Amino acid sequence: MSVIDKIKNAKGPLFTFELLPPLKGHSIERIYAAIDRLIEFQPAYINFTTHRNEITYKERADGLLEKRVTRLRPGTIALAAAVKYKYNITVVPHILCGGFTKEETENVLIEMNFLNIDDVLALRGDPQRGSRIFIPEKEGHRYTDELVRQIVNMNKGRYLEESLEEKSSTNFCIGVAGYPEKHSEAPNMNSDIQNLKRKVEAGASYIVTQMFFDNGKYFRFRDECKKHGIDIPLIPGIKPVSALNDIKMLPQTFHIDLPDDLVMAVQKCTSDKDAREVGIEWATMQSKELISNGVPGIHYYTLGRSDNIARIVSAAF
Ligand code: FAD
Repeated sequence: MSVIDKIKNAKGPLFTFELLPPLKGHSIERIYAAIDRLIEFQPAYINFTTHRNEITYKERADGLLEKRVTRLRPGTIALAAAVKYKYNITVVPHILCGGFTKEETENVLIEMNFLNIDDVLALRGDPQRGSRIFIPEKEGHRYTDELVRQIVNMNKGRYLEESLEEKSSTNFCIGVAGYPEKHSEAPNMNSDIQNLKRKVEAGASYIVTQMFFDNGKYFRFRDECKKHGIDIPLIPGIKPVSALNDIKMLPQTFHIDLPDDLVMAVQKCTSDKDAREVGIEWATMQSKELISNGVPGIHYYTLGRSDNIARIVSAAF
């Protein structure tokens, strides 16, 4: 069953979570261990992030720098398929505009179709590391609404090569990202929501939000989306603080604000373990309030660790 059908048929809020593919060279067993810890809570589906190629520089013996293009976390589709068939669960791989041509995207979607993976989260991806602006591939997409349109076209049996014979239609259910605190590049919230609407009009069925730590921001965003005529499910994304440094790293990386009470509670901690306890308590409080306010589900950003998520879900759901 697709994500949107699961949301529509659910009797209560869905529990879902996101995992990152292991770093190159690491084993898939780590992923299985993270899932094993959470499977008893009956996740409705599991998302798998995609990581574009990165440019790295290595100093050679002669002192010159050698440029390398490498993907640090390869294997999203294969990983999603392995998990789908091992656990008999719906999986949602992420696909990106950044780093991919339309042709490469089409090929990834064909692979997913062959593997019976019918759900996808469509994203633009961030600018290449070291660059301030997002530069699409020459034959790639600049914005996610274009990517959504490509997927919808395949659902209608329209491939890039129009002269293809015997074209079969795909059946992808498409999710997209939304930002309760605005996307960092958008000039203001209003234009960001207009752009979110473009993704919905292009064919997205649901929205997953960027992490936030103040539920008021999600509720205001939900109201704004409604005012703009966006009426598809808006799934809140929750990330528990899990280390002392998170109060610096999370705002820097994700362009979000942390509430005073949370910052002060983490500042009082003397170890990552204590900060992790604060994070569990905060995310549990957030989850309970979101659930009592009728959200369709809660999507947890695990960053590969699942023990804290297990405690939050067992307390909140
Ligand atoms: P878009 O919707 O394309 O928006 C990007 C910016 O352009 C926004 O400022 C928007 O207002 C503006 N915009 C959009 N459309 C238009 C238009 N038609 N004309 C003019 N302006 C426009 N990144 C990864 O690399 N891998 C992942 O797996 C991944 N997973 C994620 C999962 C979730 C739930 C979320 C919230 C984010 C994820 N990201 C991931 C990060 C994401 O790629 C970045 O936040 C990226 O900068 C924006 O992606 P987007 O799809 O929201 O972009």
